[in-house]
Amino acid sequence: MRYLPTKEIERNATVLLESLKAMDRPVRVDAIAYRLGLMVEFVPLGEEVSGLLVIENGKGTIGINEAHASVRQRFTLAHEIGHYILHKDQSELFIDKKYTAIFRDTRSSSGELRREIQANQFAAALLMPRKLVENEINVRALDLGDDCTLRKLAEDFEVSIQAMAYRLSNMEIFVSS
Ligand SMILES: [Zn+2]
Repeated sequence: MRYLPTKEIERNATVLLESLKAMDRPVRVDAIAYRLGLMVEFVPLGEEVSGLLVIENGKGTIGINEAHASVRQRFTLAHEIGHYILHKDQSELFIDKKYTAIFRDTRSSSGELRREIQANQFAAALLMPRKLVENEINVRALDLGDDCTLRKLAEDFEVSIQAMAYRLSNMEIFVSS
């Protein structure tokens, strides 16, 4: 399982969005799955499981927990698309439990955890494209120190406040490096 720099994962998501002309907020993650030929089903998965991806003969089917809130379902779907784009040659089954806290860099991790972190980074980049987030902040001269800003950005991109907070802090890391 090779190390993928965060910037390369970001580039993968950007290329996908641009090639499908889907660089618009909120990102239509269901349409992206459809364009990739992925089947998406909303199914009962119990309390713990957010979603899963099954690959059979190169075709992917994604199951999303029907009981979860829509912002979480969108993130799960983007995460499974990430597994499909980045990892479909490595495994035929991905089952995802709670993972939303895992956003750190993958350099120090290995194996399965590394895959999960990469899928999360991809999901964040897909749902909150850097270009669109920066544009939103600049055009509206948003104050990032203001709690309302975070809530508004999360609403605009149809993601959780927590996901947006992680994304903004990761983007600042990019800016300073
Ligand atoms: Zn996963």
